[in-house]
Amino acid sequence: MSEEFDIFSDRDSTMEDAVRQFTICNACRYCEGYCPVWPEVHSGNIITRNDVLYYSNLCYDHRDCYYACPYVPDAHEFKINIPEVTRKIRKKTYEELTFNLNSSLEKKIALSLILVIPIMLGWIFTFNNIYSPGPISFYKLVPKYPLIAVSSMLSLYLLSMLAVAGIRYRRLVIDGLDRGDRNTGVGIAGITTLLNVLAHKWFRKIHYPGEKESNVRFGFHLLIFYGFLMDILSTTLGFIYEDILAIPSPFPFYSPVVIAGVTGGLMLTVGGLLGLVARFSSRNKQPFMTVEGFDFLLILEFFVVALTGLLTLLFRYTAGSEEVYLMLLIHYSAIYTMYITAPFSTNVLHIIVRLMSLNRFNNHNIP
Ligand code: SF4
Repeated sequence: MSEEFDIFSDRDSTMEDAVRQFTICNACRYCEGYCPVWPEVHSGNIITRNDVLYYSNLCYDHRDCYYACPYVPDAHEFKINIPEVTRKIRKKTYEELTFNLNSSLEKKIALSLILVIPIMLGWIFTFNNIYSPGPISFYKLVPKYPLIAVSSMLSLYLLSMLAVAGIRYRRLVIDGLDRGDRNTGVGIAGITTLLNVLAHKWFRKIHYPGEKESNVRFGFHLLIFYGFLMDILSTTLGFIYEDILAIPSPFPFYSPVVIAGVTGGLMLTVGGLLGLVARFSSRNKQPFMTVEGFDFLLILEFFVVALTGLLTLLFRYTAGSEEVYLMLLIHYSAIYTMYITAPFSTNVLHIIVRLMSLNRFNNHNIP
């Protein structure tokens, strides 16, 4: 592990405990086959702190190992709780990869101001547009080019945060794994990783949100994943229609732009709701796991963004222009909030960090 990323002080209890637990697991080997983590744990002799960082960020939080383990805290002095200790390491990894910008009160205040001030200014400058007369056009609330400028900046900001986190994770963790191979990222391993992600290979039949095996997480994550892709498709089609084919918005209900947007919105809303219910159900059924904002904020933000988007469209056909524009302003505020807060308060970095860990696993395990 590089000095720069030694985020866990020598005596850090979380990291020490994780090394201790995985060292016991490496001797026990009962959980082989449950998930990608165990073949990696058992492929070496000595468990290093860097290994633990890799295992924790490869972990899909199945919780199978907890229910299989005879050494869990309530049953044995070994006090093994792999799902919880890897969760803590993941949270700290994401904080470190975003330069701990959410770690002190001052930083939190600065982040809140970056969040609240633009939203307030947005409402102040656009609120009167809610009363715009005539046929409904979303650009009457926020004109087209300022809207494109703000959404492009937000996308660039989030993609840059993910890219920087990915580059740092590779340099600070993946490259430090002293097992001779490196994460090439392309070739068979890369294609396998992409197919694993698209098929949600490692999400099926897991012990979540309770002791009974279920596909709940497989279901809601699939809905959120493909719902988000459908909304990106809708936005892209909207641009093609308006700026290439010169077909002006608002588009009719049967147009591919609206169909893709509604489909994506419904998938995100249902997936978000399922995800939130599962998260809070697991809090009651699986008390060995902590549930904090970090664990559900991203799902909640997707749910609010999708729901306000659908309501805006519904109001277009059922309510007056003022209701449409007001809901649209709430929708824009929800999108802004999600983009700004996602890297610091949610587990959004799992998108890039787990992808790179899974690719390293495939690179290491595909003959
Ligand atoms: S979690 Fe428990 S049962 Fe599984 S490998 Fe570790 S010690 Fe063994």
